[in-house]
Amino acid sequence: MPSWRKSCGRIGQVITVPDMKLNILKSVFGYASFRPLQEACIQSILDKQDTLLIMPTGGGKSICYQVPALILPGLTVVVSPLISLMKDQVSQLKGLGVEAEVLNSSLSWGEYDANKARISSGITKLLFCAPETLFKPEMLELLSSCRVECITIDEAHCISEWGHDFRPEYRRLKDLRKQFPRAVFLAVTATATKQVRQDIIANLGLNAPREFIASFNRDNLFYEVVPKTRPTDQTLAFLERFKGQSGIIYCFSRKQVDSLAKELNAFGYKALPYHAGLSDLDREQNQELFIRDDVPIMVATIAFGMGIHKPNVRFVIHFDLPKNIESYYQETGRAGRDGIPSTCLLLFSPADGAKIRYFIDQKTDVTQKKMALHHLNAITSYAQSRTCRRVPLITYFGEPYAIENCGLCDNCVNPPEATIDLHKEAVKFLQCMSETDERFGAMHVINVLRGSESEKVQSYNHQSCATFASGHDWSIKQWQDLVQQLLQHNLLAKEEEYGVLKLNRLSYEILSGKRKFQGYALPKETPAVKFTKSSVVQSLEYDNALFAKLRAKRKELADRDGIPPYIIFSDKSLIDMCQRRPRTKAEFARVYGVGEQKLQKFGDLFLRLINS
Ligand code: ADP
Ligand code: ZN
Repeated sequence: MPSWRKSCGRIGQVITVPDMKLNILKSVFGYASFRPLQEACIQSILDKQDTLLIMPTGGGKSICYQVPALILPGLTVVVSPLISLMKDQVSQLKGLGVEAEVLNSSLSWGEYDANKARISSGITKLLFCAPETLFKPEMLELLSSCRVECITIDEAHCISEWGHDFRPEYRRLKDLRKQFPRAVFLAVTATATKQVRQDIIANLGLNAPREFIASFNRDNLFYEVVPKTRPTDQTLAFLERFKGQSGIIYCFSRKQVDSLAKELNAFGYKALPYHAGLSDLDREQNQELFIRDDVPIMVATIAFGMGIHKPNVRFVIHFDLPKNIESYYQETGRAGRDGIPSTCLLLFSPADGAKIRYFIDQKTDVTQKKMALHHLNAITSYAQSRTCRRVPLITYFGEPYAIENCGLCDNCVNPPEATIDLHKEAVKFLQCMSETDERFGAMHVINVLRGSESEKVQSYNHQSCATFASGHDWSIKQWQDLVQQLLQHNLLAKEEEYGVLKLNRLSYEILSGKRKFQGYALPKETPAVKFTKSSVVQSLEYDNALFAKLRAKRKELADRDGIPPYIIFSDKSLIDMCQRRPRTKAEFARVYGVGEQKLQKFGDLFLRLINS
């Protein structure tokens, strides 16, 4: 029996032991210290204060209910929306020697009864179940006979219609208050918008909750955007540097998913497709092969990802433009859950924006349409920004972000060249807008400036404008780039619906010469496959040959038990072994993620490998 359980055997006393939390973190989970907010959140639960915890993916939310569950004398119930996720967490916890069980419809009668027996006997510390299971009469009866200490609502944003995965069953959870008056409520989610937060508090009936909101900056993710020219070649060139590593490639359409997956395989990269057009069985199989490190690359539509807790995803590529900043944040957020540096690449072409635009135009609901356009503009402006990529991502969630150079995005690592005087061109553009009565989008103004003889230009008699053909020495691309810069500096306005450009107060300051415009020269044509140097996984120093050996052993053990390799050890633990090269069991115990159970179970085996 792990030593922590001996010390928390008796009811009530343990909570006052100051080092209890840290002891459990070390001895069970094998971590040296708490991450920001974890300890305070755990304390809040031990104090029986309702708590709302908002933390990005990979932030370490699970520890926040797992540690108190091991300290509190009774049972912690974890409500979770997905069976696959629950199973994963239970096998992870069992691997740590923690008494955790799941109750759901996928279990056989025998298993179900055995689990029930363990729960009512008081052995089980953590019980995972879906809300619909929870409300079954026999389930409520079972729980009424237990000492329910804490009810954790995982993925709590599911309670909100503002969130992305609304689940009506979540609305009933409030009723549990009456059933289990002594249980403290903990709601956890990675969705941070204020509306969702308020919805969670109201719909769960949280009682004067303490709120913990972590920073949404994922500081191990490298963000990069590359102009999309030859996307397949660009993807292949990128993958070249991630040989054998796991990653997800998101595409817009099912067709694109299938063809890209095929192409990657033809080039020797093991990749599988995932989209809603595949049978349930195929989807499940492909996901399983990915999770178990049998196939490193998943090419997928956005149907893939929810409920995937694979920690060693080293890259996420967006082959096509995501539909908004929030989705982009969520999708890229699946990289680097284990905290190891990982890369997020977006291949951007304005044509993709136009494609999404086409779909938006089909919408009939005016409010929805407006919203979608607003989102599209935000994501295109993210892609075209020349400043730190983290600013639009993080401020989107209402969090201030003031770091000047993050050092972990293409723009910060490779700042664009110095600005140059583009005042003359800016004035020319704004003047042309004014001459065409601020009634057109950028393309028409550019056509007039470049002296186009198009029908549209003639039909409005715009060849008679003073600015007509005055900008023929610049390409369409150069003018488009200038427009983008003017928009980013708020030097002109764009109506979202039809993209009509309007002059604003600052435009007039430019026109009158009161304000000067400095901008970036149009970047030279980007070669098809050029990436920022540091987008290659910032090389951690460790012995690759040893890592490969440890990884093979981990895979062998995982396959034997039919579980994903990360349940045995995370990549981070293996890397730590390579760096520390422990010689004794005492040294092995200090490896990241090695608690008492892992030490006992795998210590000798891995020590032998390391020292051979
Ligand atoms: P979330 O649920 O917030 O996405 P997890 O709870 O899965 O994140 O934690 C992400 C990773 O960080 C896991 O591998 C977890 O074991 C690890 N982790 C959590 N807390 C700590 C800590 N205090 N020290 C080291 N690693 C931690
Ligand atoms: Zn940056």
